[in-house]
Amino acid sequence: MGLLEGKRAFIFGVANDKSIAWAIAQAFHQEGAKLAFSYSGESVAKRVIPLAESLGAELLIPCDVRNDAEIAQAFTVVKESWGGLDILIHSIAFAPKDELKGSFVNTTREGFATALDISAYSLIALAREAAPLMTGSDGSIITLTYYGGQKVFPNYNVMGVAKAALEMSVRYLAAAMGPDGIRVNAISAGPIKTLAAAGVGGFNQIAGHVAEKAPLRRNICQDEVAGAAVYLASPLARGVTGEVHFVDSGYNVIGL
Ligand code: NAD
Repeated sequence: MGLLEGKRAFIFGVANDKSIAWAIAQAFHQEGAKLAFSYSGESVAKRVIPLAESLGAELLIPCDVRNDAEIAQAFTVVKESWGGLDILIHSIAFAPKDELKGSFVNTTREGFATALDISAYSLIALAREAAPLMTGSDGSIITLTYYGGQKVFPNYNVMGVAKAALEMSVRYLAAAMGPDGIRVNAISAGPIKTLAAAGVGGFNQIAGHVAEKAPLRRNICQDEVAGAAVYLASPLARGVTGEVHFVDSGYNVIGL
């Protein structure tokens, strides 16, 4: 029997087969979870629909997380189809490309608002809608973050600020939702080549540095993040909430 047998998981953030959320979906499927996917935009839909179908996903729901009505509608569909929810995956981030290069001093008001809205506030908005559906004894909400929310990395800029807000939101949500048996955690992944990562200037330089300096002397892959997500979503982690769990070849422990 799988670690997530019969659990109902709603996954936000699959854009293509390189997405971290896709690796998480595959691992959840292997462990016996039922899957619902959300996607944003028609071009993403073309890639996500065949992927979702290949895992026998029960639900495939459009949702732009900037839109409260679409979020409410997405969770209404889940409620009507499944009657409840056990796991929510938030694997979403966005900042305008110009904000992810050059000096942080040039961060625009609009770019800041967009990055924080899509990459951080959306976790709160999704968690609020998920809460009434998570009536079992162990609900699990997992988001994806990056070390650039704790330390300064070249070009990560406003996304670092958004990740800092996201990580603090994890702690506040964990405190707010814990009494209802809902756990909220983040996985801080090392650099992985995905669509989102391609938008960050100098990504290859960061990945090369990690491979050279991290204790494991290599970068991580999507599957390794998925393994941590299975753990955090499963009863094995039933005592764990409010954590930022690093899956980064140990890079974050190195000083010099
Ligand atoms: P990805 O591009 O595959 O995933 C990003 C997802 O965000 C996409 O599915 C995209 O459709 C979605 N998204 C963007 N704006 C949206 C909106 N308005 N509404 C709904 N969805 C929206 O890239 P990824 O690397 O798999 O990113 C997933 C998460 O992992 C992000 O939070 C990212 O910051 C985080 N992360 C990535 C890395 C890395 O190096 N790739 C490292 C650490 C953390």
